[in-house]
Amino acid sequence: MENVEVFDSPGKGRGLRATKEVWAGDVLFAEPCFASVVFDSFAAHVCHNCFRRQQKLQRCGQCRFAQYCDRTCQRAAWEEHKNECAAIKSHGKVPNENIRLAARIMWRLDKDGGVISDLQLITLDDLEDHISDIPEIDLKELKVDIHNFLDYWPRTCKQHTVDSISHIFGLINCNGFMISDHKGLQAVGVGLFPNLCLVNHDCWPNCTVILNNGNHSAISTMYHTQKRIELRALVKITVGEELTVAYVDYLNLSEDRKRMLKQQYFFDCTCDHCTNKTNDDLKMAGAEVDGVKVPDEKVKEITEYSQEMLKKMEKARIDANYNEVVKICRECTEKQENVLADTHIYQLKMWSTLSEVLSYLQFFEEAAIYSRKMVDGYMKLYNPNNAQLGMATMRAGVTHWQAGQIEVAHSMICKAYAILMVTHGPTHPITKDLEAMRMQTEMELRMFKQNEYIYHTMREAALKNQPVQMMSEPIEEGIKSLFRKK
Ligand SMILES: [Zn+2]
Ligand SMILES: [Zn+2]
Ligand SMILES: [Zn+2]
Repeated sequence: MENVEVFDSPGKGRGLRATKEVWAGDVLFAEPCFASVVFDSFAAHVCHNCFRRQQKLQRCGQCRFAQYCDRTCQRAAWEEHKNECAAIKSHGKVPNENIRLAARIMWRLDKDGGVISDLQLITLDDLEDHISDIPEIDLKELKVDIHNFLDYWPRTCKQHTVDSISHIFGLINCNGFMISDHKGLQAVGVGLFPNLCLVNHDCWPNCTVILNNGNHSAISTMYHTQKRIELRALVKITVGEELTVAYVDYLNLSEDRKRMLKQQYFFDCTCDHCTNKTNDDLKMAGAEVDGVKVPDEKVKEITEYSQEMLKKMEKARIDANYNEVVKICRECTEKQENVLADTHIYQLKMWSTLSEVLSYLQFFEEAAIYSRKMVDGYMKLYNPNNAQLGMATMRAGVTHWQAGQIEVAHSMICKAYAILMVTHGPTHPITKDLEAMRMQTEMELRMFKQNEYIYHTMREAALKNQPVQMMSEPIEEGIKSLFRKK
């Protein structure tokens, strides 16, 4: 590993630091997946090899559980699946995702040992499992998982002690990395990446981690590229500087981030942003109307009201009742207007959902208005190279394109492209989509300036064909947390 090394980070334990100067967009390391599984809830909807969402999948004839795009994906996955396949068959039922992942890790350990590539900086044995930090109530759950694991684990395979099994469950619990579909829009599985476990958290980090599901389109599995993560620099980093990523979304108040970090990762965040409560005031700010500040009482009242409405909205969204979502959001944004500042996180949340759902329901013009407000707010809060900001700007650009506002659309797509070149890199599928979109909007913009009539005719045709499919159904919240939440 030429760019990074393990060191003792003061107050944090082990960490990684740069051994070479790097610039924004540079890859510090790429790491293959040690093992991964599809979530129980997605087991019938995504390919168990490439994690692509597919309408039609082919079932494994042996276990009737694993599903694949085609024979190519099935062949590529066989090495990882064969032990599991036999175990599921003889067990007679499919255990939950935690147990499936623990078993896959164990089979891999038995076959390859704790280190699977030259680039791996630490063995699984040496990683921290935080078992002693787990609260009593969750320990019960862990015991149930271990019990079920032992039931599932074949007698014919190497037997492991309860301690080593619980070590693996501990690792999954605090370091299980969320694996998204290939477009990075939705979390569909969980995996383990040993080096990544060494990268400490900072609420305002200097790196980002991005998953690349690899390319599995070639018929011969020899030409496939592996599922991997990349640690990418967001800013210039000098030799000796600690590398950090954000485990939780920055668009939470510092006290909420601290609580989440303590609960799931068992540490107290002492980063500058938490210590100084940076931007907390903006995230809860009231509006200013004609130079006059809205009274604190009123801001507080609408903030509390928004909190209630957000809960209602989330419920309607989980039920996929999108008309209800729109109704709640509209009602709430009306009350928030001219009371909450355009950086208030509850207002941003409403705008984000409203634009996403309206665009799904094809009310593009209204969706465009809210998506723009959302991006303007995000830009005042997020680091300029934040992946969330890049994805939101991309979404807003597509929405403006759908609404026929080609000038704004093109400028937003270009902005998003610049961010994603840093956070995702030029070969990531989303960046490639965005590149195609950028060329499309550039051409349309040129046409629009020459002849508006021809532009509109052509746009109608393009909308019908939907050349670039970037928007997913708004089923769940996007991926905002690095590791899997319990
Ligand atoms: Zn596949
Ligand atoms: Zn099978
Ligand atoms: Zn912090």
